[in-house]
Amino acid sequence: MSFVFPPSPVVSVPVLGQPERFPVHRIYCVGRNYEEHAKEMGFTGREPPFFFLKPTDSLVVVEAGQTGTMPYPSLTQNLHHEIELVVAIGKGGRNISAADSIQHIYGYAVGLDMTRRDLQNEMKKQGRPWCIGKAFDHSGPIGPITPIGQTNDINNAEISLQVNGADRQRSTISKLIWNVAETIEHLSAAWELQAGDLIYTGTPEGVAAVVKGDVLVGSVAGLTPLKVSIV
Ligand code: MN
Repeated sequence: MSFVFPPSPVVSVPVLGQPERFPVHRIYCVGRNYEEHAKEMGFTGREPPFFFLKPTDSLVVVEAGQTGTMPYPSLTQNLHHEIELVVAIGKGGRNISAADSIQHIYGYAVGLDMTRRDLQNEMKKQGRPWCIGKAFDHSGPIGPITPIGQTNDINNAEISLQVNGADRQRSTISKLIWNVAETIEHLSAAWELQAGDLIYTGTPEGVAAVVKGDVLVGSVAGLTPLKVSIV
């Protein structure tokens, strides 16, 4: 096969402890999936999960032990951090039940759902899509994937984010409104999941702005931490 210009390279994420990499298909994100974060965004109560996507090439892939760099994006005065557990899908399917979901998980990683909050808020106000606030270039820093067999119980792991060494976000995965299994059930009813899909599962409370020069360190207990500097 030949192309009229070279095709884009495959986007991939390193896998802990092995040379083979995880090739990325799609990036799904869950909105408002921790109660305290829903409240700080002005919402209450358990609503059905809802989803948005980021382009695959918006990832900032950070290799183990490295510090990633994210350029401060255009058009915004209010770039927010959202620390999230990312689920990597290893086996696709549609209408996957929560009980079966674990068979479809390849592993987990730490990710940041970086958000141009001012633009997202403007789109919300106007009832328009969130793409400009959520799906911009370099909006998805992610660290190495830990295969599922090498993690402890992720559903009770602590999740946290420090900016320049100071705590900004701290919670536990057990506080997800829709847990990983339920998220996979809902998501696979709407789209056919495929090997290579990533799911950003939502952020706990404490989202706030970062500026050029800030260094972010995100952690989920049992996974490789994610370190990113804003340049
Ligand atoms: Mn998010």
